[in-house]
Amino acid sequence: MILVVVEHDAGTVDRLSSEALTLGRSLAEAIGGPLQAVVWGPGAAGTAGPLGAMGVAAVHEIVEARLTEYAPEAIGKALAQLIERDAPAAVIGTGSERGAEVLAHAAARLGGPLAANVTEVRPGESWQVTRQRWGGSLLEEARLDGSVRLLTVAPHAFAPVSAPAAAGAPTTVHPFAPDLTDRDFRVKITSHVPAEEGAISLADARVVVGGGRGVGSAEGFAQLDELAALLGGTVGVSRVVTSAGWRPHAQQVGQTGTRIAPDLYIACGISGAIQHMVGARSAKAILAINTDRDAPMVTRATYAVIGDLHAVLPAIIAAVRAAR
Ligand SMILES: Cc1cc2nc3c(=O)[nH]c(=O)nc-3n(C[C@H](O)[C@H](O)[C@H](O)COP(=O)(O)OP(=O)(O)OC[C@H]3O[C@@H](n4cnc5c(N)ncnc54)[C@H](O)[C@@H]3O)c2cc1C
Repeated sequence: MILVVVEHDAGTVDRLSSEALTLGRSLAEAIGGPLQAVVWGPGAAGTAGPLGAMGVAAVHEIVEARLTEYAPEAIGKALAQLIERDAPAAVIGTGSERGAEVLAHAAARLGGPLAANVTEVRPGESWQVTRQRWGGSLLEEARLDGSVRLLTVAPHAFAPVSAPAAAGAPTTVHPFAPDLTDRDFRVKITSHVPAEEGAISLADARVVVGGGRGVGSAEGFAQLDELAALLGGTVGVSRVVTSAGWRPHAQQVGQTGTRIAPDLYIACGISGAIQHMVGARSAKAILAINTDRDAPMVTRATYAVIGDLHAVLPAIIAAVRAAR
């Protein structure tokens, strides 16, 4: 059996979990076993329908009254207990910070190895994995031993799972009551900052308008906001911008920010440092706007405009408006 750790928002399966399910499904087929999922939190049971359509045969819901918010130690311990009970051949988590944290807790409790950020898995007598290291700048070939293989999937290394041709059978939800103590809830979310109404998540946006040091000031972002709104996208920024306090960290793209996978990334005044590109490498096309024709972002871009972004952006905005 292959077990996928699924993250969701009130029953809606998130994109990275859907990518983990793609790997899970191919591994289940390869070893000839069923694909199962584990979920927790408010609305978890609502994932059963969509997961059934994605080929998941059974959903385990961690049922625990104190688990109303993300609590990594508690979830990791509950996951370890479920793994000990059901002995799956492999457990797959998402490449999100949460996925990595929960799987790391489970691996530590089980005393087994965890391969993080895998891009390919070859099951066999000994399982071989390819995984991203150093922020994705190199690939490592590794052998994963242990009775249970614990993996997290590198973000955007797999396409989101597609529903099977025949509508999947409705899946059964099996409640799982873990043995947890108050101590397991030492780390948990205690408050939320609500997203702006109608805001598009950076990780899911089809168009991202990125801004770096070249934007020059917090006020300079007005043109980027305008273009992002026109294109139905959102704004992402470099670390220089968040360090300067021009925009919040939630908008940072990169190794220590969000990894994006838009159809189009319009990178304005961003040099394209490796730590930034780690987060932008899954963009299908990049339009770089930069005064420096030798900037790494320009050399990696699909299209580039060499010039001052504060002159180029108004021209693009006017052209988009005219085309409409
Ligand atoms: C451990 C670690 C983690 C990091 N994590 C991240 C991360 O997650 N995300 C991230 O972004 N960075 C990260 N960094 C920082 C990274 O190394 C770079 O310093 C940063 O990305 C540079 O930001 P920038 O491109 O905005 O600025 P710069 O490198 O200064 O580039 C500014 C660019 O703007 C251009 N420009 C200037 N004026 C204009 C204009 N008027 N019009 C058009 N172009 C103009 C310049 O030619 C230049 O190419 C990390 C660094 C470390 C050490």
